Amino acid sequence: MTFASIIGHDRQKNILRRALENRRIAHAYLFEGPDGIGKRLVALALARALLCQSGQGCGDCGPCRKVDHNNHPDIHLLDADGATIKIDQVRALQKELSLRPLEGRYKICLIDGAEQFNPAAANALLKTLEEPQPNTLIILLSSQPEALLSTIRSRCQRLPFQRLPKPRLTEILADRLELSETEAAVLAALSDGSFKKALGQNKELYLERRRELLRSLLALSPGSTIPLFKLADELVADKDQLVEILEIFQAFFRDLLLLKHGRPETELVNLDMKETLYRQLKKETASTLLQKLQALDAGRYHLQRNVNRQLAMEIMLMRMNAA
Ligand SMILES: [Zn+2]
Repeated sequence: MTFASIIGHDRQKNILRRALENRRIAHAYLFEGPDGIGKRLVALALARALLCQSGQGCGDCGPCRKVDHNNHPDIHLLDADGATIKIDQVRALQKELSLRPLEGRYKICLIDGAEQFNPAAANALLKTLEEPQPNTLIILLSSQPEALLSTIRSRCQRLPFQRLPKPRLTEILADRLELSETEAAVLAALSDGSFKKALGQNKELYLERRRELLRSLLALSPGSTIPLFKLADELVADKDQLVEILEIFQAFFRDLLLLKHGRPETELVNLDMKETLYRQLKKETASTLLQKLQALDAGRYHLQRNVNRQLAMEIMLMRMNAA
């Protein structure tokens, strides 16, 4: 992974390139911005440039290849163990950082989801940041930087990252995935600027399964109890993508609401389903649409609260079906 091969984030890459050229790499960075937009890729590109034999992140030397294969001994990744990052993890990291680099000139630590430090761990990390060792680099990645201790934030050089603008993402997806412009626009809208979502497992969900799921949902009628329970089962079985599925349903009914209010078609997400949208539009009023969106909202709320998923989905579908 090189800076050049990462799409977008030009300003951030230039700042880091300049720091590399001038040998002014900070001891600690905080890369902040939404999940899935490439913060981790930029961090790894920086690590590779620092560890590379040629100093360029060439991609061919031994160190570069180890970085790419996630097995460079001088890079340490720290992720939340369960819901939080715990003090034992920070202590282990401190021990690592106190040793000399094994192969390169630097020891680099990447902490993903840095907002998840528990208080004791955060204080321990603060100590490390206050007394930086030479030739060590700590990169914190966070989508909720305001949840970090302000004293941690102020010890890091902060680098904000933004989502790619939708037209640019559409263009890139169309090109990379060889999609039609309409499909690429649907994918860009649903993945909300996240490459990880657009290029990962959600691609199939957003482009293929979205239509099937919406068809099953729209086929429900006030009397259809068994299909309703069947659909609830299907949703619950897909627990890894359940939130995304509910977002798909929300986007569909939001589209209908936009059309109800006479907004232009260019604002729609489901650009490839206009016929279905207009057919459904005849059956809905602004009030039924709002009720359905409220039922979806409540469904998502209950999922976050870890209530019985099955029950939450059944109630959500019943409410939508009754609206
Ligand atoms: Zn190299």
